[in-house]
Amino acid sequence: MINGTISAAVQLAEPISSPVGMMDLLHTLFPLPRSLTGDGVRETLSIIKDHIPLTIHEIPTGTKVFDWEVPQEWNIRGATIKTMDGKTLVDFGDNNLHVVGYSIPVNGTFSREELTRHIHTLEDQPDVIPYRTSYYASNWGFCLPHSLWMSMQDDYYRVEIDTTLADGSLTYGEFFLPGQTAEEVLISVHICHPSLANDNLSGIAVAVALAAERVRQRESTANNAQLGLRVLFVPATIGSITWLAQNEPKLGRVRHGLVLTCVGDAGPFHYKKCRSEAAIDQIVTHVLEHANLKYEVVDFSPYGYDERQYGSPAIDMPVGCLMRAVHGTFPEYHTSLDNLDFINEAALIASLGVVREVVSICDRDRVYERIDGRGEPQLGRRGLYRAIAGQRDAGGPSQMDLLWVLNLSDGSHSIFDIAERAGIPFLRAWAATQICLQADLIKEVSHARR
Ligand code: ZN
Repeated sequence: MINGTISAAVQLAEPISSPVGMMDLLHTLFPLPRSLTGDGVRETLSIIKDHIPLTIHEIPTGTKVFDWEVPQEWNIRGATIKTMDGKTLVDFGDNNLHVVGYSIPVNGTFSREELTRHIHTLEDQPDVIPYRTSYYASNWGFCLPHSLWMSMQDDYYRVEIDTTLADGSLTYGEFFLPGQTAEEVLISVHICHPSLANDNLSGIAVAVALAAERVRQRESTANNAQLGLRVLFVPATIGSITWLAQNEPKLGRVRHGLVLTCVGDAGPFHYKKCRSEAAIDQIVTHVLEHANLKYEVVDFSPYGYDERQYGSPAIDMPVGCLMRAVHGTFPEYHTSLDNLDFINEAALIASLGVVREVVSICDRDRVYERIDGRGEPQLGRRGLYRAIAGQRDAGGPSQMDLLWVLNLSDGSHSIFDIAERAGIPFLRAWAATQICLQADLIKEVSHARR
């Protein structure tokens, strides 16, 4: 019986590869012209839906969401800057970063001086294309390498931007796998950046892989997850605000949450804490620490990604943000250098491993109490020393782990608390509780107290 329990624990350590093929997904999604709204977002969600069940929501233009309103829908078919004799110098078809997001339609001839006001370049990175948007101001523009712009010295150019900005809808995707309870873990990723790999697509790939694993586990084993898993694929800011506004009565169900972004580069992890102190902060730190990964924990600030929407007054959900590179601080950020060469599969797999472990801890944490809590139980009589000795090589719990569980299982400490106090990985403390349960030494009091 005890051996069976331990082997179950080892099985539950879960695989470290990603059958979804995160790099393949990134390659497929990379060229699509995503923005806050429009067909690039729809196509992105439709491809995600090939991998996981997804509800795709369409929220009409003009819908009031808190202090905001769903904007007009933007679609782009093409854009060019040509010489007067018809030679194409800049083409949206070559790179969708060339056009400022939400540019209004333009068709005409402009002097170089007039065009200057609509050109964005990076002087200190002369060969890269910057990423710019103009969501809430009617404008148009092109982004190009500074070196190219410096080489364009004609007096006049032909400019065409073939876009539509019209009433339509905001599109977002929602995955939900219910658990045994009404509570859930929330994962949120933004889907509004066009051809940018780390900032946008890496979070999407990890979220899809996690959801797909959960679906497969659910199909292959008994439905025993306590917490549901919800994954939101939303355009940044307006998308999360829209979801919050439409789900306000249910927000209390989210017990733990994470925004995922920039998780595909090879740098150290950065975890940004929730607005208010929450268990997820401790859990993420625990996982990063025990996985021997380089990491830094940073305090909440009302800037960055959608964690600032989930952590806003009267909402204040326990949602932190997991990153590797931090927005605005790396040279590839919001440029054409944030491409498929900037990210790598090993980094994505390691990021998925961290998120998987975090979600697993959220789900498996429990509070136990001793059935007869007076004094230390006699372990030798129950064969527990031998059971442990046989499992140590497989990374199973030690005798000391068992003693910690038996000492702190008093109805108020959870497995996570015990792991932290003992300085051991959660999984080892969890495996020790399974042995104690099997030996009728403890009984469950509740799901985690958090
Ligand atoms: Zn960004």
